[in-house]
Amino acid sequence: MTDPRPMASVSLDVDNLWSYMKTHGDPGWETRPTYLDRFFPPVLDALDELGLRITFFCVGIDADREENQGAFRSLTARGHEVGNHSYEHEPWLHLYSREQLVAELSRTEDALVRATGQRPIGFRGPGYSWSPLLLELLVDRGYLYDASTLPTYLGPLARRYYFMTAKLTDEQRRERAGLFGSFRDGLRPIAPYHWRLGSGRTLLELPVTTMPAIKVPFHLSYLLYLSRYSEPLMVAYLRSALLACRLTGIEPSFLLHPLDLLGGDQVRELAFFPGMDLSGKRKIGLFLKVLRILGEHFRLVDMSTHARAILGRGGPPLRAVDPIPLVSPSGRGAAVRAS
Ligand SMILES: [Zn+2]
Repeated sequence: MTDPRPMASVSLDVDNLWSYMKTHGDPGWETRPTYLDRFFPPVLDALDELGLRITFFCVGIDADREENQGAFRSLTARGHEVGNHSYEHEPWLHLYSREQLVAELSRTEDALVRATGQRPIGFRGPGYSWSPLLLELLVDRGYLYDASTLPTYLGPLARRYYFMTAKLTDEQRRERAGLFGSFRDGLRPIAPYHWRLGSGRTLLELPVTTMPAIKVPFHLSYLLYLSRYSEPLMVAYLRSALLACRLTGIEPSFLLHPLDLLGGDQVRELAFFPGMDLSGKRKIGLFLKVLRILGEHFRLVDMSTHARAILGRGGPPLRAVDPIPLVSPSGRGAAVRAS
């Protein structure tokens, strides 16, 4: 019997301890402190408990480092997909030249093949950064989908909070000017679509899903934030978002981050981050609860399974969207058409 539920994809961006420290301008990140050995075992156990296979968007330099080899090997050994989350995890890929982008992609692909035995066919830019050139390079390299967009109006608010807590030079602030996107990112579609590239080719985009119509995020980081005020409020908000997705025919792409599952008791270095006043045990409990609610409404799969299902369906063609960047290469937020 076929499963009557629509699909939803689940992914986790494997942002490591050092990458949070680097983006935040904290000293000591250069030695690449890692929590992956602490992070993966409980998370993979929780996913097994749910019977779930998801996509882990991995950072190349972590996959290259000796101390992380066991952690990365366990991802594919337990049936999960690995995606490309860049090599250096710098959330300003829109400032990168062609040569820099090719190096980011190819070095990560090579590192992931070595560490996991799997070549990535999906990409998500760090901090939701991307450029039209990057999308062309993904097609050149045989990628099935991109997942770098977060259609919300709240990006500038998230950036303001982040700047308030970070210790950054003027130059570092300029590089990070596009972090979390601009107000106009809220104008992008929520449902999957085709990028219509300058070369005449297309690439499937699977946006991180936000609440239909009002485009407020409901990925796990936001849900945990609500849970600090009231768990019933969190559940009600999640159920409203899922109901809105069902009513508008949207199959969500649900996003996770390591700090959704690691508690402040496990990563004291990141105490400034919202939600780090919760323990790891409490977070795993909330994670299981949220994923079970998602699973009541949707059949949960990894990103490439979702992408292939979307591309393999009959019916009306996907919407085509021109990749006009919403943050200019100067970082000033002007909408420009890239060459
Ligand atoms: Zn990331």
